[in-house]
Amino acid sequence: MTLRLQFLGTGGSQPIPLPTCDCRVCRAAADGPPDARRGYSLFLPAVGAVIDTPEQAADSLVRWDVDRLDRCLLTHWHPDHAGGVRALSMRPTDREPDETFQEAKRRTAPTLVTTRAVYDRACETVGVLPYLVSEGFVETRFLDDEPATLSASDGGPPVTVRALPYRLDDDAPREATAFVFERAGVRLAVVADDARRFDVSRLPDGLDALVFECGTFGHGPDGERLRSPRLETDDLSHEAVLERVAAVDAGRTFLSHLGHQYARTYADYRALSAAYADDPDAPDGVAFPHDGQTVEIRQR
Ligand SMILES: [Zn+2]
Ligand SMILES: [Zn+2]
Repeated sequence: MTLRLQFLGTGGSQPIPLPTCDCRVCRAAADGPPDARRGYSLFLPAVGAVIDTPEQAADSLVRWDVDRLDRCLLTHWHPDHAGGVRALSMRPTDREPDETFQEAKRRTAPTLVTTRAVYDRACETVGVLPYLVSEGFVETRFLDDEPATLSASDGGPPVTVRALPYRLDDDAPREATAFVFERAGVRLAVVADDARRFDVSRLPDGLDALVFECGTFGHGPDGERLRSPRLETDDLSHEAVLERVAAVDAGRTFLSHLGHQYARTYADYRALSAAYADDPDAPDGVAFPHDGQTVEIRQR
């Protein structure tokens, strides 16, 4: 048994190419992926589930030939993860002869799967979301009390999903969540960005794959400084991410959320993962995915 995962978007809050920018990375991205990167989004074909809907979500679903959309798992409410949630109501409805268009949209409504705190905050920040839910065009399912079992659309075994909520600010409610997926013994965890306050010891042992944020790069590929030497309070540095990745020790690790500000082309990330593969002190099995990449996760 394998679990297929597709990266629809591997960029950060600043996509590549970035509007009005003419830098080296944006010029390399002129012809599209693997250098071009849209907002952070993943897809699990087995259960027709997109994970996060950045502003460019509808375009990414078309670009990567997603042919069914039954669910959306939302990690947090930031616009680069939730701002494109209206893509959930942009789908064919197979209207029956005596049905109105609205009735058909309600009958075939996809389900938003997340925690109540993430949903409540997303409703405040993404104005269209409460409208979609109150009209019945999107259903909700909350994971606060128990995992969900998602039936498969490919005839295979179901996928269970569990939420691991965490805080984005010290004094705030847990307005973000990681997800742990399991299908017939194959286990995948997805932790989006702003994961500084996420305790990786909460992840199960023996993960087959982990998707984590790449963290903030202090320097560019040629050693040039990219940010102030003062660590900002919400930053999780790339070096700190590598320590966490080593502690989790998943079979494979994909570091995503590769924003424009890190000044790296696809070739730069390839060189970096090759250097980690040769470095006995670096964690094993670390890759930087590109938009459109599909991976088959197997039991280790
Ligand atoms: Zn640029
Ligand atoms: Zn983000």
